[in-house]
Amino acid sequence: RQAQSSDLERLGILGHGSGGTVYKVLHRKSSSHYALKVVRLDHDRYIMREAEILKKINSPFIVKCEGIFEEGGSINFVLEYMDGGSLANLLKHKKRMSESFIANAAAQVLKGLKYLHGERIVHRDIKPSNLLMNRNSQVIKIADFGVSRVVSQSMDTVSCNSYVGTCAYMSPERFDPDSYGGSYNGYAGDVWSFGLSMLECYVGYFPFLAPGQKADWATLMCAICFGDPPCAPPGSSAQFRSFIGCCLQKDPSNRWTPSQLLNHPFLTEFMHRFK
Ligand code: ADP
Ligand code: MG
Repeated sequence: RQAQSSDLERLGILGHGSGGTVYKVLHRKSSSHYALKVVRLDHDRYIMREAEILKKINSPFIVKCEGIFEEGGSINFVLEYMDGGSLANLLKHKKRMSESFIANAAAQVLKGLKYLHGERIVHRDIKPSNLLMNRNSQVIKIADFGVSRVVSQSMDTVSCNSYVGTCAYMSPERFDPDSYGGSYNGYAGDVWSFGLSMLECYVGYFPFLAPGQKADWATLMCAICFGDPPCAPPGSSAQFRSFIGCCLQKDPSNRWTPSQLLNHPFLTEFMHRFK
């Protein structure tokens, strides 16, 4: 597991994010490809957390971290290479995904979330750009643990400005904990973000805004906190509409858990059809 820059040939850039840059690299000795995430150390709070969490994780539904090394003022994560890019990339090119595609993706993301929550880890940044695929789009894994945390006794809330990135996928109770009893553990927030991401895959645009519409954070936050949650359009199946409804409950105590969602008819019926 002792990877070094000198063993890794950078082949190109896979993505830029809040934390840094992700490169496609070739590990010369094994002739295999990896993703190398390079994060400058001035983001240290998040990096250390990400490193700590990644070391604990071992699940087929989560992008594997093969090694971590420090070099030139940056932390380098050697990650399993997902050659199909993210669901966000797919949305950019394909615009919309079918219910069967979404059912297959959803089942894997939920298995990943079930594993994480079982390990007392809240991801906190589930969104299409953090869900990665292999080339034939059959395998989907959760990536990017930059803002995740291991749940401790007391859960602090993260405000919109405390990290660079988007809070568009954040649940109502993360903006406004007092309206929901003030105490929540964060697990249900991952399910909200998941549901919103799956709905976006179906409709092809961010569900809180009309297609092409732009809004500032204040407007968006108001829509999330005070508006009705978005739902799947009438043209979709009754199972899909129900599934999305179970994820996008505003009150986190009414939201289904990953285990419950894995037994939702939208998934069980699709799985049945595939067999
Ligand atoms: P950030 O914390 O900056 O958001 P991410 O870990 O989400 O960083 O990576 C940013 C982008 O880089 C992703 O959206 C994806 O397109 C690409 N990427 C990240 N990790 C991998 C990987 N293991 N394999 C392939 N592409 C990746
Ligand atoms: Mg990301």
